[in-house]
Amino acid sequence: MSLETYRRKRRFDRTPEPRGEPVRRRTDRRSRTTGRYVVQRHRATRLHYDFRLEIDGVLASWAVPRGPSLDPAKRRLAVHVEDHPLDYFSFEGVIPRNEYGAGDVIVWDWGRWTADPSVQDATKALADGELKFGLDGQKLHGDFVLVRTNWYRGRKDQWLLIKRRDDAAVAGWDAEDHPESVKTGRTNDEVQAGRRAGRGPTTRG
Ligand code: MN
Repeated sequence: MSLETYRRKRRFDRTPEPRGEPVRRRTDRRSRTTGRYVVQRHRATRLHYDFRLEIDGVLASWAVPRGPSLDPAKRRLAVHVEDHPLDYFSFEGVIPRNEYGAGDVIVWDWGRWTADPSVQDATKALADGELKFGLDGQKLHGDFVLVRTNWYRGRKDQWLLIKRRDDAAVAGWDAEDHPESVKTGRTNDEVQAGRRAGRGPTTRG
């Protein structure tokens, strides 16, 4: 039932986004503490980065307006949004005008996340408002924390995504300085223009 909100917001005869397979919730054991993660750069009405962790058969998701940073001094607002289907993991394309989230999407980063050893159950940690984890991706590396700062009764909840201090920290690192897709090498402009994917990173000019 976790994808109800995701599906309610979208018209799948008009958007290229995946409808997603039914979720099989694992109620027999604790939620997993490692999985894939993806960050999508989504140029919608407002530019944001969608930060998604694979947890229990869905992609738990946050919209991060300024994008993740490797700089521990840059605390990034992260608005918790509806779970997305696993099929969304590699989605890159154009959501048509007038549809929910209209704009262009690239796979900005992907890799694996692993909870901090202190975390026994990722779902419970999120419910409690703090998840410490490490990322091993193409752009993002090292330890991070997601911490809830505010809760609006069943509506949006606001979190901060913060790089923790470690060897992977880089002062001044900004997501906007690294604009290409890790899946196809394309920028959002190139996806919007319909440049073909599939030949690896493209060259400009
Ligand atoms: Mn988005």
